[in-house]
Amino acid sequence: MSVTAVVGANWGDEGKGKFTDLLAEEADFVVRFQGGRNAGHTVINDYGKFALHLLPSGVFHSNVVNVLGPGVALDIRALLAERETLMARGVPEPKLRVSDRAQVVMPYHVLFDKLEEERLGQAQFGSTQCGIAPFYADKYLKLGVQVADLYYEKRLRERIERSLDVKNVLLEHLYGKPFIAVDSLMTDLLDAGRQLHPFVCGTTVLLHDALTQGRRILLEGQLGALRDPDHGIYPYSTSSSPLAGFAAVGAGLPASAIQTIIAVTKAYSTCVGAGPFVTEILREEGDALRNRGGDAGEYGATTGRPRRVGWFDAVATRYGCRIQGATEVALGLLDVLGYLDEIPICTAYEIDGRSTREFPVPAFLEQAKPVCETLPGWKCDISAARSWEALPHQAQRYIERIEALIGVPIHLISVGPHRDAVIRRAPASPMLGYNAATKSA
Ligand code: GDP
Ligand code: MG
Repeated sequence: MSVTAVVGANWGDEGKGKFTDLLAEEADFVVRFQGGRNAGHTVINDYGKFALHLLPSGVFHSNVVNVLGPGVALDIRALLAERETLMARGVPEPKLRVSDRAQVVMPYHVLFDKLEEERLGQAQFGSTQCGIAPFYADKYLKLGVQVADLYYEKRLRERIERSLDVKNVLLEHLYGKPFIAVDSLMTDLLDAGRQLHPFVCGTTVLLHDALTQGRRILLEGQLGALRDPDHGIYPYSTSSSPLAGFAAVGAGLPASAIQTIIAVTKAYSTCVGAGPFVTEILREEGDALRNRGGDAGEYGATTGRPRRVGWFDAVATRYGCRIQGATEVALGLLDVLGYLDEIPICTAYEIDGRSTREFPVPAFLEQAKPVCETLPGWKCDISAARSWEALPHQAQRYIERIEALIGVPIHLISVGPHRDAVIRRAPASPMLGYNAATKSA
């Protein structure tokens, strides 16, 4: 069996898109299993720079089948537009399959996301306003619409009427907005369904068959472990589980099929939106890191918002790797830290005068203060390094220290945003076919 999950160990934006695009070279299928177009996965390769939202990051390899599994929040228009944009920019038509069980993000989900953030005012969560929370709320309230429903008009109308019953009361009485008539949605939905139809299939059967045939499947997570609704920084979490444990569910694969779990972490921390962020650095110190971070500063790939930045948090990342079940780690954005004389790493939290290495429940996270140690910086540009030996010894020590603190081997190291800027320290996912010949010298 050859299933590998690429998932985030932190708050999201760890560079999963970059690593997935790289690893997809060796894959037959790349599958998104949760989340929706709120994802922003930056990929920079010979086709250019792309921020993928709904399309899996395997779309640049024409041999890869890209799958949106049942767990995804499917915004049909956004998906189709993203596909068109990609092809207009010279990328060969990607192979795309959408699960007939995936549920559809409705215009009213987007509307309610916006209205609720407006209503919350200062207390808002910083939602990307793509309708994700109202979508998953409806799914679990059993008010959702599956892709297959789009091809049964009577059922579709009934499903939407059921969903609108309560929404129209809220629109009128809570938000003071006009109600929504089912007829106003049907034409557009039926048309969207027609356009989506060529891509729709039973992806669960497709993937099970692939598994039987020994094909290589990559599961691509959105966001990161600390955004998990159960295990993360609730309520500043997302509405579906970004954990590898859920990947089997959201993709439609047996849990036992996932053998390699690559948790992606950043060489420093970033966090978008509100919520506790223990190692945050502010003012000029924060600006200095933000402006040097990412491929063009740390700004949201979906929203353009400045990301909050902080030092590497070994407490949060060790926990993130644990709940992901990481078998190995991919460390991204190491090149960014080349300007620092010394680099702080958070090794413990102090809560109520006591030091702990265990990531606390959200109720205690607000009071946590970082306990840091400092390592010497390497003070040079490492973006051309392609082997462990080519890294300055201070950078090697930084990686080894992180590895010791989180307790998971770091096999892949990214030193620049482009696909090629990577160091393979050991076989990344043997199931993806890496061997001694392909790893770095
Ligand atoms: P994702 O959501 O996990 O896929 O990550 P994002 O794409 O939202 O954010 C990662 C940012 O870092 C993007 O701007 C990438 O282009 C950039 N990036 C990824 N890997 C590296 C790296 O090794 N070095 C640098 N400088 N930027 C990187
Ligand atoms: Mg992102």
